[in-house]
Amino acid sequence: MSVRTLELTSNLPLPTMMLGALGSIALAYALIWIYTLLTVRSRPVLEGKKILVLIAHPDDEAMFFAPTMLGITNPSSRNDVRVLCLSTGNSAGLGKTRARELEKSCQAIGVQPGKIESLDHPALQDSMSITWDPTVVSQQIQKYLSTEKTEVDVILTFDTRGISSHPNHKSCLMGAKSYASSTNKRAARKDTPISLYTLTTTSFFRKYAGIFDSPFTLFDANFALGRQMKHYKAELRKRGIDTRDERARGVLVYMNSPLQLIKSQRAMRKHESQMVWFRWGWIFLSRYMVLNDLRRVSPVDMDD
Ligand SMILES: [Zn+2]
Repeated sequence: MSVRTLELTSNLPLPTMMLGALGSIALAYALIWIYTLLTVRSRPVLEGKKILVLIAHPDDEAMFFAPTMLGITNPSSRNDVRVLCLSTGNSAGLGKTRARELEKSCQAIGVQPGKIESLDHPALQDSMSITWDPTVVSQQIQKYLSTEKTEVDVILTFDTRGISSHPNHKSCLMGAKSYASSTNKRAARKDTPISLYTLTTTSFFRKYAGIFDSPFTLFDANFALGRQMKHYKAELRKRGIDTRDERARGVLVYMNSPLQLIKSQRAMRKHESQMVWFRWGWIFLSRYMVLNDLRRVSPVDMDD
């Protein structure tokens, strides 16, 4: 910047400089949003699948998975989506209220009534200090699907860090892995195994970066999987699995448009019993309200 330009800038009144700075941030915000929406559109998505979204508590679906929920329930994707919530979130005695809020929130993000279930199982109670038994979780998934007389192609759930490190969130993954791995071993499922995708946990800084997390998410989606797959390549080839196919389907990215963001916030507000002051911070700042990336659990890891 020349000395002349610097002089001009420093002569501007403070309100004008602040307005200029705010305008630049708003422009960067809009450009990042548009760029990411266009980029995400060319990436693989789930289409024509029977999908089970496995969550631990009522509100997980809106607080963490909203962009994914709106993406997979979009009628153009032709998916059949079900939500199984493993507890009613009864740690404060509000289980029944929260189960009703889950129904309303799920419907606000496109899940059909009758395809939402919350369990109240003695071994799966909402607690910050309890890790649920994967066998019980797997049995409950099996029981739910057989009651509904359906099977699933894809399960979406939390990853090993569970976004907030909540042990109940982490338990969802262990139970889903147990269910998918045992089901995939059945002769009838060997040709069409269940795919398991997990919602990526980010650092604290990225969690609250909102739309500004987009460059990090896109970078990760494009390159991190390649690094990760080097580890599996030999084993995948040994099993006759096409590594290019595995890579293409390896990461899903879902992003909300401004209208979808409003829908997500509306779904979150259906959880009236949970809307304490700091949830408003989450609604307006969290990248999970606008952006989700999910990793496919490698078939090699499914057998752990
Ligand atoms: Zn939760």
